[in-house]
Parts: sequence; structure tokens; C-alpha cells
Amino acid sequence: MGALWRREIGFPYGVQRVDARSDEGINPDTRLIAEENERLKLENDLLGRRVAELERKISLQPQTGLPTHFRLELELDDFIEQASHAGKSGGFTVLIVQLGENYGVVRKTLKASVSEWILYQTGCRIQGFLRDQDRLFHTRESEFVILLPGLKGRDLADFLHRLLPRLAEPHIFSGFNVAVGAFTGAAYWPEHGEERSVLMHHADIAVGASAEGRKAFMLFRPPLLERAVAKVELQNSIIKAIEATALDRIGEQFFLCFQPKLFARALEGRTLVIDRVEAEALIRWRHPEKGVLLPSTFVPLAEETGLILPLGKWLLYQCARRLAAWGKSGRGDIALSVNLSARQFHSEDAAETLAAVLAYTGAPPELLTVELTETALFEDAGSTAETLERFASLGVRISVDDFGTGYSSLSHLHRFPLDEIKIDRLFVENLAGNRQDRIIVRSLVAIAKGLGLSLVSEGVEKPEALELLWDMGCRGFQGYLIAKPLLPRDFIAFRDKIVADGMRFTF
Ligand code: C2E
Ligand code: CA
Ligand code: CA
Repeated sequence: MGALWRREIGFPYGVQRVDARSDEGINPDTRLIAEENERLKLENDLLGRRVAELERKISLQPQTGLPTHFRLELELDDFIEQASHAGKSGGFTVLIVQLGENYGVVRKTLKASVSEWILYQTGCRIQGFLRDQDRLFHTRESEFVILLPGLKGRDLADFLHRLLPRLAEPHIFSGFNVAVGAFTGAAYWPEHGEERSVLMHHADIAVGASAEGRKAFMLFRPPLLERAVAKVELQNSIIKAIEATALDRIGEQFFLCFQPKLFARALEGRTLVIDRVEAEALIRWRHPEKGVLLPSTFVPLAEETGLILPLGKWLLYQCARRLAAWGKSGRGDIALSVNLSARQFHSEDAAETLAAVLAYTGAPPELLTVELTETALFEDAGSTAETLERFASLGVRISVDDFGTGYSSLSHLHRFPLDEIKIDRLFVENLAGNRQDRIIVRSLVAIAKGLGLSLVSEGVEKPEALELLWDMGCRGFQGYLIAKPLLPRDFIAFRDKIVADGMRFTF
């Protein structure tokens, strides 16, 4: 590097000047050259120090002080070379540690010092299990890579057995107590790839599969590669399905189901006396080759690619049209909820789109509820407040989805113009068996009451859960116990039956 700098500076051109005062018998040219050389040497030293500083900066992560992916590339080549010379005896493992998605939530919702602390702590925790010959790198914000010479099979399993529980422990930081967890994936040298890029790619595939399957660890296997390729193909086909078709043709592949949301005023035995029947629109994709796909397989892809924006506009338009049509058929009491993804909500024209759709379809705004996840709301509290105000001024209702899973600040909740809170089904699933979940639900009920918001429990599957929720003060219910997501005509039949039964629903 030093040589490079020297070459770039070049040789001093302006030194031919003759100094008239020179009378010391030294050739003035020689003195000037010496001075200039001295100056250049100083400059060179300074540059050398800057280069070293820059090198240090790009090769060490500031949050953890660990070597970065630049260093990993260099050292991995060395590892491969040494292992090749060592013959068959050696070999090593590349283990990737990726922090759980909770880390992303923390980063978006809490102050930077908390996520930095988590990264630092994770580095320290991993380091605590390493031997002298192991190497740890901090390669991407939420990713660490470990090179483990000779650690495969049983030995690797033993290592993970100690490491994983440690990574799952909560991080405690001035009043915050957050568990982020981690997913890990590994590939062996040379079995899973002799070249650096192949080996890293396969370790990447393994950790991706571990995150997707919500498994703590995955070792690379060729079928994982096939699955990753299939995912890319799906991504390409969603791009084709949405981008290639005009907006009015999206409906050839995508359609909506409606899941009832019931609001009750009394519970008599196993019969709810119903105040209102509402619905939540849930998207489905009729894939030309794969059949009907659930949103978990393609909504994240649509978010990543930005295609959620045209798709979301289409959805909103479908929902508003449906509302207007229900009104015309004498069912003007059904309210409809639509899910807005974070990207859609934070897009510049979110409120304009909503206003245009309402104006175009003539749907009554008070019958449309927009569901936003707690995480989407708190991503950027400043712009959130502004967009929510504009939504509210259009007359639509606003619901906080998956409530209790993010890190909302109650002071913000209070400032936003909200109408409804939905308790995440995570807390409802196991309500009868889990005291902690009951405590959480009780406090969510109190928050909703205190803020004057309507409250809905998602994922109500068992009669006991509904009864418990009722006793705690919850009056809105959604879940398989009431009905699964239904095709539009089945939803209408479901609602008409409740009306015919005198606004009663027995479970
Ligand atoms: P979500 O908004 O929390 O929707 C509720 C999900 O829970 C739905 O899954 C629903 O089928 C499922 N569910 C309802 N009741 C029960 C129950 O009793 N037990 C269990 N185990 N599950 C129940 P679905 O339709 O697969 O949707 C998953 C997620 O995809 C939704 O979660 C939402 O975040 C997203 N999504 C769905 N439709 C749309 C959409 O139109 N736009 C956007 N942006 N996201 C959507
Ligand atoms: Ca929802
Ligand atoms: Ca939800």
C-alpha cells in the first residue's frame, strides 16, 4: 500500500527554483531537493498513517471491534490453503450466526445504544466459547461468522449445545430486557465446497434455511440449495404476476378471503349475542403451477421487491369496491378491515391512494378499517403520526395488528388517532395453560379500556379461550372457533345466518 501512495505522489517538479541568497558552498539545488524530500517523507508518513487507519476501519466493526468480512475473505483463503497442505486430517467448519428477527424490531423501535449493546454482547458471548485456533468475524450488522478448525459432527454439536442457549438469553440493558435469539447454519470444508465462495454460499443457504424453518441450527445439505433456488423462482414469478399484468389483471391470480370479526355484547352459555359482524380481508395467490399460496410465502417477497405497492393498491381497491357492493345489497352494516404492510403505509402516497380509492368507489370510509402492525407503526414515529392523522381525517378506522409483539411506547399510542387493538394470537393460543399470557392479555385489555379503544383477540381456537377472554373484558373475537377465512359468498352466508338467528352465534 505504501508503495502505491509513493507512486501517486510522484516526484517533486517545482524544485528547479534557484535560491539567490545561498552562499554556503552547498549547491542550492541539492539543498532544495533535500528539503523537498524531507517534506515529502513527512507527507508520506502522514498518508501511511491515514491508510493504516482506513484499513483498520474497514477491517474492524466499530460496534464489536471484531474483524469484518474483508478480513474474513483474506483469512478464509489462508485457512483453505493451510488446510489443503495439512492433507485429509484437518478440514474446518464455517458457522454463521444470524440474530433473530427480534433484533430488527429492537433496532427499529429502540434507541441505537440498545442494538449496539446487543451486538457487542453477542460478540462477547460467542468469544467465550472459542478456542485459540478459532476465528470470529462480525460480517454484517446482524451476522457473525466463526471458523472452527477440526470441529465437525459430534464436536460441532457439543459446541452448539453450549453456544445456542447462551445466545438465547435475554440482554439486559438499563431497563430493557430483550431476547433476540439466533439462527445458525454451517458448511464443512472441503465436503460442502472447496472454494471460498462456494463454501460461504452453502453456509449462507444453511443459515437461511434455519431462519426460515425457525430451527436453531442447520447443516448444509444439497436439498437446501434446491429449495433456495425454488424460492428465487417464486420471487421471479411474483414479479411476473404483478409487474407484467396491468392492475386490472392482478385479479386473475390474486384473490381475497374474508375472516369474520365478531363484536359481542353478551355471552350466554356458549352463545354470543352479537353487536356487529365485521370481516378482515386476507390475500391468497392462485399460483399458475403451485396452486393456492398463503401470504406467508409471498407477502414478504412482495415487500422485499416493492411489488407490495401495486398489489396493495389493488387490494385496497377490491376492499372498497366490496364494501360499496355490500351496501347496495342491503348489507351496509358490515365493516371491512384491510392489512397494510409497513412499506405501503410508509410510502409517500399512502394517504392519497386511500383517498382516491374511497372517492372512486364511493365506499363509506367509516366502514373501512386499516390494520397496521405495531412494528410498522413504530418504525418512524414522526411520519407515522402524520400519515395516521391523514387517514383519520378521511374517516377510516385504524387498528393496531399483532399488538403485544413489538415494543410500542405507550406515550405514542396515546398520541396516535387509533380505534382498535388486536391482541396477537401468540398470547391467545395457549391462554388457558399459560399464566404469563393471561397476565399480558389482562394488561392489554386494561390499555385498550384506558385509551378508549376497541379490542379484538385474534386466533381464538378453543371455547375455553373465548370464555377466559370474555371474563377478562375482551368483546371482539376472531379465529378458527368462529370461522376460518372464507370465500366472499361463504362469508356473506355466515353473516346472513347470524342476522337470521337474531344476532346470535353459538360456538
Ligand atoms: P394477520 O393480519 O395477523 O392475519 C391473521 C392470520 O391468522 C391469517 O393468516 C389467518 O388465516 C390466521 N388465523 C386466523 N384465525 C386463526 C386461528 O384461529 N388460528 C390460527 N392458527 N391462525 C388463524 P393468513 O391469511 O395466512 O395471513 C397471514 C398474514 O399475512 C396476516 O397476518 C397479514 O400480516 C398478512 N396478510 C394477509 N393478507 C394481507 C394483505 O392483504 N395485505 C398485507 N399487506 N398483508 C396481508
Ligand atoms: Ca391483520
Ligand atoms: Ca394479526
